[in-house]
Amino acid sequence: MAISFDVIIVGLGAMGSAAAYHLARRGKRVLGLDRFAPPHAFGSSHGQTRIIREAYFEHPLYVPLIQRAYELWAELEIASGRSLLRRTGGLMIGRPASVVVAGATRSACEYSLPHTVLSAAEVRSRFPALQPTDEMVAVWEPRAGILFPEICLEAHLTLARALGAELRTEEPVLSWEADGRSVRVTTFEGAYHAGQLVLTAGSWIQSLPNGLKLPLAVERQVQFWFEPRRPVEFQPERCPIHLWEYEPGRFFYGFPDLGGGVKVARHHEGEIVNPDSINREVRPEEVNAMRAVVRQFLPGADGPLRSTAACMYSNMPDGHFFIDWHPTHPRVLIASPCSGHGFKFSNVIGEVLANLLTEGQAKFDLSLFRNRLF
Ligand SMILES: Cc1cc2nc3c(=O)[nH]c(=O)nc-3n(C[C@H](O)[C@H](O)[C@H](O)COP(=O)(O)OP(=O)(O)OC[C@H]3O[C@@H](n4cnc5c(N)ncnc54)[C@H](O)[C@@H]3O)c2cc1C
Repeated sequence: MAISFDVIIVGLGAMGSAAAYHLARRGKRVLGLDRFAPPHAFGSSHGQTRIIREAYFEHPLYVPLIQRAYELWAELEIASGRSLLRRTGGLMIGRPASVVVAGATRSACEYSLPHTVLSAAEVRSRFPALQPTDEMVAVWEPRAGILFPEICLEAHLTLARALGAELRTEEPVLSWEADGRSVRVTTFEGAYHAGQLVLTAGSWIQSLPNGLKLPLAVERQVQFWFEPRRPVEFQPERCPIHLWEYEPGRFFYGFPDLGGGVKVARHHEGEIVNPDSINREVRPEEVNAMRAVVRQFLPGADGPLRSTAACMYSNMPDGHFFIDWHPTHPRVLIASPCSGHGFKFSNVIGEVLANLLTEGQAKFDLSLFRNRLF
């Protein structure tokens, strides 16, 4: 078999589905391949909810990207007719000098974003679900909220297909090669040819880049849903999304109860795993450790455990993303925008990838994400 496309995308998760949509919108002949049938629960994009926030504590360079992401999520809601984003406002909570509070304040000030710094007492009184200790403060940002990842993926995939993209699921890519004129991708069905290749294989990306060692580590992360003991406090009208640096360098985050319980999770501190052998069972000691944090800071959520889901972060050593051309194959673009915080950007990353592939440049400063093969 030898079928020709403009671009082949390997991995149709958050990033690949968005790239397929943006390339198909530009009239490109797109082939997307995935080893599973997205949206699925084996990679990095499952668990019903993801945080979107604008006063980006990780670095101010993300702010223009997130502002474009907000525009694109709104456009995608209209194009797909699906509800993708629920605005709740958001709180970044910690000591004044913590990474989340100092970083969010820096981004908010640099980009003149609406925000307010609240004392712990103000947080406890306005949002009784959240019980920060007296030495903590919180940066309130009104535009933060919740994305529904499985629905976002479905929206991108459905619209990409409608625009002519060929998306083949349960067809893992086994290998690829490139020469000066084209790329060739092999699956158990045969070989496909294209002008360009994008690798967006999430936690499996290290098995694909053809002789290249990416500096990524895959980290197991557990999402927990607890039955609230005081459900009213956790209604989305009364409980914004919240992200805490509750001890120096230790983070957790949570959502209001959208019907399935109060979702909370740690940010990092997970085991480094192989994506093919990750343990998806959650151990009682993991539940107990999460419950201890809930009991201290969200006491009204300390009811019975409803469910759990293990997921994977693909981490760069400095917590930023990896988006770059293959160093020896200029037709091959590699994108691992994860490090545990990539979902909110998936639509704008899809647009960036499409721009890099079709115009050779993106409209954003990507310096944090490039030249990363140390
Ligand atoms: C628990 C958890 C919570 C998170 N919370 C947030 C949050 O609140 N906000 C936020 O912005 N981000 C968050 N993130 C990060 C965000 O979800 C990820 O950055 C994003 O989902 C990564 O998308 P991806 O496309 O790289 O990976 P995925 O969506 O996993 O897609 C990779 C795809 O590649 C496919 N694939 C792999 N190998 C092959 C192959 N050989 N051939 C074909 N296909 C292949 C896989 O099947 C998969 O579908 C969180 C992540 C986790 C795990």
